[in-house]
Amino acid sequence: MYNPKSMKAEEFINHEEIIESLAYADENKDNLHLIRQILDKAKERKGLSHREASVLLACEIPEILNEIYDMAQQIKKDFYGNRIVMFAPLYLSNYCINECVYCPYHKQNSNITRKKLTQDEIREQVIALQDMGHKRLAIECGEDPINSPIEYVLESIKTIYSIKHKNGAIRRVNVNIAATTVENYRKLKEAEIGTYILFQETYHKKSYEELHPKGPKHNYNYHTEAMDRAMEGGIDDVGLGVLFGLELYRYEFAGLLMHAEHLEAVHGVGPHTISLPRIKHADDIDPDVFDNSISDEIFEKLCALIRICVPYTGIIISTRESKEVREKIIRLGVSQISGASRTSVGGYEEDQRPHDTEQFDVSDQRSLDEVVRWLMEIGYIPSFCTACYREGRTGDRFMSLCKTGQIQNCCHPNALMTLKEFLEDYASEKTKKVGEKMIESELNNIPKEKVRKICENNLKEIENGKRDFRF
Ligand code: SF4
Ligand code: SF4
Repeated sequence: MYNPKSMKAEEFINHEEIIESLAYADENKDNLHLIRQILDKAKERKGLSHREASVLLACEIPEILNEIYDMAQQIKKDFYGNRIVMFAPLYLSNYCINECVYCPYHKQNSNITRKKLTQDEIREQVIALQDMGHKRLAIECGEDPINSPIEYVLESIKTIYSIKHKNGAIRRVNVNIAATTVENYRKLKEAEIGTYILFQETYHKKSYEELHPKGPKHNYNYHTEAMDRAMEGGIDDVGLGVLFGLELYRYEFAGLLMHAEHLEAVHGVGPHTISLPRIKHADDIDPDVFDNSISDEIFEKLCALIRICVPYTGIIISTRESKEVREKIIRLGVSQISGASRTSVGGYEEDQRPHDTEQFDVSDQRSLDEVVRWLMEIGYIPSFCTACYREGRTGDRFMSLCKTGQIQNCCHPNALMTLKEFLEDYASEKTKKVGEKMIESELNNIPKEKVRKICENNLKEIENGKRDFRF
């Protein structure tokens, strides 16, 4: 029985409800009267239910699609402006006791080199990341209670936060580790993590169990209920995601929105972020084996609809996607992208991209400096801001600021100040030139004079060597 308030996975992600929603969407995909009503509701920026959203996803009427894209762009502009927050993944270990069939780190893969970073190696990696200009990391780790227990993850977070190399600092560590206990989530919270990210991979229980034949991850309910345990452990920013390509995208889309509805219904706050990865080639993994892969056009539509359905949730796109795809979908609602990522364990300090421990092929292989310049050239402000969680603006506090639009008063000046730090410390001359020009013109877009004056003053202080200003 479908119940968004239930704490049981199969009741809040209810298979029958998804099947009925998809049938309802098929029946109504040309029902212009209903579609108009749904679009009118979306215009209020209060989000859409999984059923309403499924109708829009099924709809193929060109003029409606154009309206969806226009609305997504407008919502993106109104809530996120022209800012894009930058981050990088850091792989700690690829030892794993699970057997996820789409991941090269699966236990049976004997081709891949197994590696776990020591604290000294983490130090080297973090210095290399700081030297590029990164301030925000997402740590990734395979599940292995012997090789990478929670104590190892906690020690690594401590190491990462402790490193201050030149003007560098990692100011926010987001964590992507396997589903765990409330007690361990509490420990992660005490270690001052930013967002806890856990991809569902697929919401389809039967497929989930086939795709995860062995290991603790096989337990669909334990995995799906992980965000509730994380929230019980005090983590109030959680990040959802599915791996598009594993199951039918319409099913995943409905499941993803149901999960967001559940978090809102039970905890009063929806997901902080939603990641949109698509399955990619990797050692031992051929993406063509998975016959649910989606085209770039469907990917764009999904991104635009997520922007409309959960306007206050950040959307993350990784370097799995090419520059061309990223350029197209950034305007539809993406708020965070990774840059210069290495998806191997270690490798940030090496000139050549190592492949022997890589989780997936990276499509966008540009340097951070190149990505930053490219974003500015296409009209976006690359932001290295990490202010909210450091100012205690998390969970429902963050969401209420978001919903009233007040967060914009922080995001925009913070983007300019952190970009300025990047330009001073890490940018090439070419990038610096583009960046200075952008900061100068974007200062005019800070509506409150008092805030603008403080920002201008802080920008001068950054030139004089001071760092880490924030609103
Ligand atoms: S997806 Fe995660 S849990 Fe599964 S094999 Fe890869 S690293 Fe292990
Ligand atoms: S002010 Fe908060 S919401 Fe805005 S970019 Fe910074 S961390 Fe994100």
